[in-house]
Amino acid sequence: MAGRINQPQVAEEILAQNKADMIGVARALIADPEFVNKFSKGNAEDIRACIGCNQACVGHRLAHYAISCIQNPVSGRETQYPDSSTAASTQSTPLVRTVVVVGGGPAGMKAAIVAAQRGHRVHLFETTKQLGGQSLLAEKLPGRAEFGGVTTNLIHELKQTDVQLSLCKPGDKEALLTLDPDVVIIATGATPRLPDVEIEGIELVDSCQAIRDSSGFGQNVVIADWACDWSGLGLAQKLAQNGHHVRLLCGGSIAGESIQGIVRDQWIGELHALNVEVTTYARFYGAQNDTAFFQHMTSGQPIVCENVDTIVSCYAPRSNNHHAWLSDFAGEVHTIGDAISPRSVEEAILEGFRCAWEIK
Ligand code: SF4
Repeated sequence: MAGRINQPQVAEEILAQNKADMIGVARALIADPEFVNKFSKGNAEDIRACIGCNQACVGHRLAHYAISCIQNPVSGRETQYPDSSTAASTQSTPLVRTVVVVGGGPAGMKAAIVAAQRGHRVHLFETTKQLGGQSLLAEKLPGRAEFGGVTTNLIHELKQTDVQLSLCKPGDKEALLTLDPDVVIIATGATPRLPDVEIEGIELVDSCQAIRDSSGFGQNVVIADWACDWSGLGLAQKLAQNGHHVRLLCGGSIAGESIQGIVRDQWIGELHALNVEVTTYARFYGAQNDTAFFQHMTSGQPIVCENVDTIVSCYAPRSNNHHAWLSDFAGEVHTIGDAISPRSVEEAILEGFRCAWEIK
């Protein structure tokens, strides 16, 4: 038996119930090649469980390049990063650095974990009381609960290191003066932004706010989806499931254009079943009272949505990469993840890994 068996306990249960004689595991091994070894040594809780997103494994294969895993960037890059678990103390030129990581999303957590695993002294600062960044939002959408596994797995790995974690505390001048780091890694993510259009007499809400709380939304919702990622599809589904009439107008040739094809196609099917009205090639122009105005991107024709109560905008957020407190710092500064440019958790974790790996 094979398919979506991401924990050895599940495999054991199937075998114990005589439902199969043998279990096959694929994606779970891409996410954690030590899956079987950890279980056989009694360390099943250390397994980095696959979350079934299909983004970097199936998604890469369909795009004709090497498979990987959003959670395990070494997968598919083994020759680039041999002995990736080896600590700096066993490398040929051991040099222990003091590293300050600013931001506790996936990028910052991965950078802190890998830097600590390689023997460096690492301090991780997060301004909120919770680690996880944007992935905490993704898990709130229908069918995306497993995305929480990314944060759970990273926190588990973090706890197995000597990283000094400071929650509710920004990395700032005080951290520089107190810790005197050699390296600062900026992983401060991005801030939601509203489109720069004229809005009058109607509520406009950004996607992050809408995911957190849509209780005050009116019956008829228009989603202006310029990002064409998981947020537009997920919000359309959530709001339609909650009984709203939803119109999703996106700036791509297909809704969810920037996400992996198999996931996207299934999602679009779910929206169709929920009677979500999808319009493509739509650029948001503004809104007045109960009317939202769009323009068809290739014909230039207007697209007018009437009887609108609430407009949600799904636009790429703005990178948080201005850090005046670093202006006098003479050491190394690296910026990773959404703080460079807002993208997905895959890039965030890859850049966190790569940046920490390259500290000399
Ligand atoms: S990319 Fe997603 S589905 Fe693929 S192995 Fe990694 S966690 Fe699993």
